[in-house]
Amino acid sequence: MARPDPHSYLDPDQPRVQALDLALDVDFARHVLSGRVTLDLGAPAAGALDLDTKGLVVHAVTAAGGAAVPFVLGDEEPILGRRLRLDLPGGTRRVAIEYDTAPDALALQWLAPEQTEGKRHPFLFSQCQSIHARSLLPCQDSPTVRTPYHAEVTIPDALAAVMSAGPAGDRAGPRPGTRTWLFEMPQPIPSYLVALAVGDLASRDLSARSRVWAEPGTVEAAAYEFGGVEEMIVTAERLFGPYPWDRYDLLVLPPSFPYGGMENPRMTFLTPTVLAGDRSLVDVVAHELAHSWTGNLVTNATMEHFWLNEGFTVWAERRIVEALHGPDALALAWSIGQQALDGSVARFGAESPLTRLRTEMAGVDPDEAFSSIPYEKGARFVVALERAAGREAFDRFVRAYIARFRFTSITTEQFLAFLDGELPGLADRVGARRWLYDVGMPADAPVFRSDALEALTALAEGFAAGTRPTPAQAAAWSPSELLVYLQHLPRQLDHGACAALDAALALSGRGNHEILVEWLTIAAGSDYEPVFPRVREVLTRVGRMKYLRPLYTALGRHQRTRQLARDVYAAARPGYHVLSRRVVESVMESYDGA
Ligand SMILES: [Zn+2]
Repeated sequence: MARPDPHSYLDPDQPRVQALDLALDVDFARHVLSGRVTLDLGAPAAGALDLDTKGLVVHAVTAAGGAAVPFVLGDEEPILGRRLRLDLPGGTRRVAIEYDTAPDALALQWLAPEQTEGKRHPFLFSQCQSIHARSLLPCQDSPTVRTPYHAEVTIPDALAAVMSAGPAGDRAGPRPGTRTWLFEMPQPIPSYLVALAVGDLASRDLSARSRVWAEPGTVEAAAYEFGGVEEMIVTAERLFGPYPWDRYDLLVLPPSFPYGGMENPRMTFLTPTVLAGDRSLVDVVAHELAHSWTGNLVTNATMEHFWLNEGFTVWAERRIVEALHGPDALALAWSIGQQALDGSVARFGAESPLTRLRTEMAGVDPDEAFSSIPYEKGARFVVALERAAGREAFDRFVRAYIARFRFTSITTEQFLAFLDGELPGLADRVGARRWLYDVGMPADAPVFRSDALEALTALAEGFAAGTRPTPAQAAAWSPSELLVYLQHLPRQLDHGACAALDAALALSGRGNHEILVEWLTIAAGSDYEPVFPRVREVLTRVGRMKYLRPLYTALGRHQRTRQLARDVYAAARPGYHVLSRRVVESVMESYDGA
């Protein structure tokens, strides 16, 4: 029958894996994980079992008792990788696969000691979303399949390991100088949420159920930055119900991590660029925490329904922000999101099928399709529903939705059917099918305003006419207000204006990367030479795609900055994650036509 997930070889007529048992040996010298995964099918099975793999070397497949199981690795398909077809003898319930990962596995980034903060030890981290788990282990790599897992990870004994799972102790490893760390994830999760990091890590408790991990040189700063996390969890519980994953721990990664955060259950992975020193960027934590309900608990069935995951999570994140910081902070957050949304729609074009919420993704690489659209258009759709239903009724609906679909992975159409049952007529009143199936933004999309937001944008829009904030005004701005002001300035300024702006607002010295990168994007795009060293420094250190795309794009505007971009990229490339490299290379390809 037709495959239900265009990004997986999963065959719904075959048995579904019910549990994973993973043993990994981490080889920093070869950049290889030598692994054995045991798949538990829950009941005796026979015949074909198709798994996803990418770059894996399969050594042996055995059934209980050690009997060899025949297997065939199919041809490499550019997006999907290679199908691993096992031919299970009758009565097989558990099957074990011994394998090695490839040194260039897409899920894994191996950092040399000099690429870490401490410079003394290597570091490894995984990033499996959307379809990279198959380069870490053979699996049914579709979010429709959810399994608990148990893992044993052998690492050099000077290092520590964390996973998207609860810690279950450690013991001496199989070789001198090694230690084996045990993990238990009792709740069923999709493969894209399997996560591992290994490095020189220290931890600090933030509350009875929350701890932050980071390199020793960063852990104190991280403990300060995330000091409010328990209040955030309590706020989220008030909105969405009891926290369902026992612990909520955080891991701060080295700066090459390509995303802002990744919602790996029990262990959110975070970029160190959120360590602004003033807790001004912890909204990223609100987002990853919100995924504990909208995303990890109720997951999209395939990437064609990704908005269900990210749109609901942005909506939930902003409800947390509103509860913690009030309506003005909320209006700023929506305004910042609008900038991201406009940028993504402009990148694809308003008529692009990728501006739909419910997408068709056969033959489309999810990494190429990644944008703010499922996040910000999706969240605006959820707000449209919320406003039409009324907040009280909608909050009841959201709790019922989470209760009904917890620990499952669903489609847009299942969501619509549930919505029609719970709140009859609401979908039609807000034009839900237009939101989901049409390109671009509906004309009646929700608008978010506040007096403070309007005053700020008016001030920025008057820049060309000579309007400037007074020093007292600017000094009173929160980091989000300053960011919104910068976002509404013209993209190209004369060099006198650049110098005056930097002098008045001390922009080039900012540690808040949202502000710093917005400023550098304007200044570099204006060919303003005094910021070039700072641009070089940021691009060499930070691999977060959210910052690389606008900065390298801005550098494309002038001959001199194009050369700067090429020089910087040549030096920075070895430190970038492969996903970040792809983004930069696609941006720089457009230089040649410029
Ligand atoms: Zn998210």
